[in-house]
Amino acid sequence: MSDTPDSAVRTYTEQHSGAFLDDLAEWLRIPSVSAQPERQGDVRRSAEWLAGKLAETGFPVTEIWETPGAPAVFGEWPSEDPDAPVVLVYGHHDVQPAAREDGWSTDPFDPVIRDGRMYGRGAADDKGQVFFHTLGVRAHLAATGRSTPAVHLKLLVEGEEESGSPHFRALAEERAARLEADVVIVSDTGMWDENTPTVCTGMRGLAECEIELSGPGQDIHSGSFGGAVPNPATALARLVAALHDTEGRVAVPGFYDGVAELTEAERDLFAELPFDEAAWLRTASSRATAGEAGYSTLERIWARPTAEVNGIGGGYQGAGSKTVIPSSALVKLSFRLVAGQDPERIQEAVRTWAEAQVPAGVRHRITFAPATRPCLTPLGHPALQALARAMGTAFGTKVLFTREGGSGPAADLQDVLGAPVLFLGISVPSDGWHGPDEKVELDLLLKGVETTAHLWGELADALR
Ligand SMILES: [Zn+2]
Repeated sequence: MSDTPDSAVRTYTEQHSGAFLDDLAEWLRIPSVSAQPERQGDVRRSAEWLAGKLAETGFPVTEIWETPGAPAVFGEWPSEDPDAPVVLVYGHHDVQPAAREDGWSTDPFDPVIRDGRMYGRGAADDKGQVFFHTLGVRAHLAATGRSTPAVHLKLLVEGEEESGSPHFRALAEERAARLEADVVIVSDTGMWDENTPTVCTGMRGLAECEIELSGPGQDIHSGSFGGAVPNPATALARLVAALHDTEGRVAVPGFYDGVAELTEAERDLFAELPFDEAAWLRTASSRATAGEAGYSTLERIWARPTAEVNGIGGGYQGAGSKTVIPSSALVKLSFRLVAGQDPERIQEAVRTWAEAQVPAGVRHRITFAPATRPCLTPLGHPALQALARAMGTAFGTKVLFTREGGSGPAADLQDVLGAPVLFLGISVPSDGWHGPDEKVELDLLLKGVETTAHLWGELADALR
């Protein structure tokens, strides 16, 4: 489909990789830790550095977008083709905190290259994966002889992702007209492993709640009153026990309404991944798998909605005994949601179900935290197929598909812009996100460059 010759892309990428890596190292030296107030100036410096580098790359529009917190960077490079599709790339320029004494072999903010890897905070999450787009668009232009990209390219790089993106949704809503796009590419994820390039097709959503049950006005004597008044801890235990049926399904009526079921094709593709369940169990520090009957482990964490108890307590939990009927008991629940589930409807279903579990004489309080929507791009979507082709050309091998069990701000872009979200990441599980010795594999980083170099032509063909 693409008219971009792979050898021209590869040659251009190789010729410019030295300067590209020097630039990335310079960016990694700016400790843009959004969580630390004393690093505020560094986060701003990181935004300014990126805006300058985008201008140097050729983006005719580069802007710093202020928020009540840390600034975001916006870049725009229109295509000379008036009907070119509009693509918005998302990433972040802030990083997790890091200090040598956390177990780093070298200074986290003085990147080094060892054994074909660049070590430094942000190398993979997410500066490296934002930065491959700069050389990628240059390689795209060089290999095709174009003077503007084949797509109308936009780039939004936020500065607060590692602090939970508190102002991102508002920023996206406020700037929706500037951000308008036919497709969103999120470069803040990874692939299966070094030898298995994969495209992630969606993330789960999240609804969280806290349920408190109250009985007596204070803890009371279990001998004088026990057996004759309701015990809120017992009522809470019954409620939690009723959350799942014997098949591991969530027993809240209406919970599965509208759930987008896995297709056979997608189940077959998941099954092709080289998944080592015993090794996975070790990373989970668990002795056995458990979950909804009829689904594999990967299907359970990627494509099925779940309910989990995150914390539970009530009554006396100190040393020895204290024979009381506690006055209250509390549980924190979270629900991972998949495409087709609406967080507001789930909250209502959970509230109705929970209220029905509360026995007479026990009062309840249910509070919900702000929810995150799920996002999913179906396998057959032409933009997703274009991404898989571009990645396949860069890596020279078959591309498989994954999903992400977690939840993130990508769903906000899908929501606000009404555009499908695609995930292009080259990071691998060993890259050590958020931990000591974070690194990026240099050959994979350059494959990211090559993927984007092929992607803009593929997308222009697929979406025209
Ligand atoms: Zn990230």
